[in-house]
Amino acid sequence: MKTLVEGGVDLLAIETIPAQNEAEALTSLLAEYPTTTAWLTYTCKDGLHTCHGENFCDAVKAVMSSDQIVGVGVNCTHPEYIESLLQQLPPGVRDRKAIVVYPNSGDIWDKETNTWIRRASGATLCQLVPCWMDAGATWVGGCCHVTAADVSDISRVMATYLQGASP
Ligand SMILES: [Zn+2]
Repeated sequence: MKTLVEGGVDLLAIETIPAQNEAEALTSLLAEYPTTTAWLTYTCKDGLHTCHGENFCDAVKAVMSSDQIVGVGVNCTHPEYIESLLQQLPPGVRDRKAIVVYPNSGDIWDKETNTWIRRASGATLCQLVPCWMDAGATWVGGCCHVTAADVSDISRVMATYLQGASP
């Protein structure tokens, strides 16, 4: 964190955090660099819990009071868990923080064969993006095994959604 701050980053991505106590420790560390802001995103094992097992809502509440944390949410998580996770967000957080969402592709890395196993079926990321935005997502992207072309498609879907949302 010190190296990045001294290097002049304008916003830190505190991402793929599996456990609430890690998020709390990193938020305390961030306070040592009071002019730096960050987003903080958890990685989650289902539609309700961080990978370590805390309730996602409680885990978000634990970092909400830091004014340096300008965005909260979820990354590197199966896309089909995102809508449920967004529904767990604590009341009022959408008014105070950007809601950050960048799931992985849902594909699974097979350690035995060192290859990706494609997600069997389900909606594409682009099909899911409007649901996420309905649920309050403001910054949307992709994590592991999401390609630049996928992110470009997500960006187009968001632009269309935002045009439809404006009066
Ligand atoms: Zn990832």
